[in-house]
Amino acid sequence: MSQNGAGTLIKTKPRCERNRVLVTGGAGFVGSHLCDYLVARGDHVICLDNFFTGSKENIAHLIGKPNFEVIRHDVVEPILLEVDQIFHCACPASPIHYKYNPIKTAKTSFLGTMNMLGLAKRCKARFLITSTSEVYGDPLEHPQRETYWGNVNPIGERSCYDEGKRVAETLTMDYNREHNLQVRIVRIFNTYGPRMALDDGRVVSNFVSQALTNKPITVYGDGQQTRSFQYVSDLVKGLVTVMDGPEIGPFNIGNPGEFTMLELANLVKEVVNPNATIEYRENTADDPKCRKPDITKVKTTLGWEPVVPLREGLERMVDDFKRRLGVE
Ligand code: NAD
Ligand code: UDP
Repeated sequence: MSQNGAGTLIKTKPRCERNRVLVTGGAGFVGSHLCDYLVARGDHVICLDNFFTGSKENIAHLIGKPNFEVIRHDVVEPILLEVDQIFHCACPASPIHYKYNPIKTAKTSFLGTMNMLGLAKRCKARFLITSTSEVYGDPLEHPQRETYWGNVNPIGERSCYDEGKRVAETLTMDYNREHNLQVRIVRIFNTYGPRMALDDGRVVSNFVSQALTNKPITVYGDGQQTRSFQYVSDLVKGLVTVMDGPEIGPFNIGNPGEFTMLELANLVKEVVNPNATIEYRENTADDPKCRKPDITKVKTTLGWEPVVPLREGLERMVDDFKRRLGVE
């Protein structure tokens, strides 16, 4: 038995049964927690990353382990490797980062996914795409089920990401239909936890950093827009469950607990700093008004559901943020 970064006990596999697993974007927030889990489970893990938004610090504790290696590589270029499974996580996920160079984001989603699917085809590996709730756009169905086709602006500032992920799902299904490739599709809803980049502008990392450094908590718009927040260890278990399960999906992986941004701000105040103040700022373009996963499909077919409530998840990430922000 061993323990992963999120404090979960995992059964370790004997060396002869080791899976060779590629985690693209493995030095990022989600990817690094996934690498922790897979390394602890005894898989042979190759972390591939171009370090655009990921960091060496996220995986420093894994360096030197016999079943872990790192490759600096950009998925927009093809690569030759021998693997059994590919978790394709490489793509900036925060709006600030994916809007920074939107053409590169679209290339990462399209060419990057195509290259990794090509690799999976050559190795006969199983391929999992980390898609997103953003494929539902500003949803007209609430909560969102996997059968909903979405309401996405194809020419807006968020489209490089939203449409990028939609075409990544399309490519994934076409490799399945045309080449009989084993594929899995996961639609991830807003996820938070330790190792989120301090500067990535996502709402949970912003609010927690602001509260810890006595800066006003910045609520965009009127704060009535909603999101459903999932703790990262729940997501990692969901990704592994889908990869090892019998069905392609797509599967929503998220926590159905729905909060307005104002409710989140007040919860962060309670958990992190009761003296924090709230400041309203102009919202960004095409911001989805609501988002909440219907997780019936994954729950009934694979038995997965999240277990960490928002308050507990926030408490769990505070120490990591304090250390990195250098505050008491
Ligand atoms: P992140 O930005 O922390 O991690 C992305 C990683 O991919 C980083 O390490 C980055 O350096 C790497 N990367 C980016 N472009 C690359 C390229 N061209 N070649 C190689 N590496 C590249 O984001 P995250 O939150 O860890 O997200 C991981 C995946 O999960 C992404 O695909 C994202 O779209 C998806 N997702 C995340 C969330 C969330 O709430 N965290 C929600 C929905 C979907
Ligand atoms: N948001 C906010 N304050 C911030 C950052 C974000 O109120 O400092 C809002 C943002 O407008 C959106 C929600 O929080 O409505 C979630 O934003 P995030 O960038 O975390 O993720 P998204 O779901 O939009 O990709």
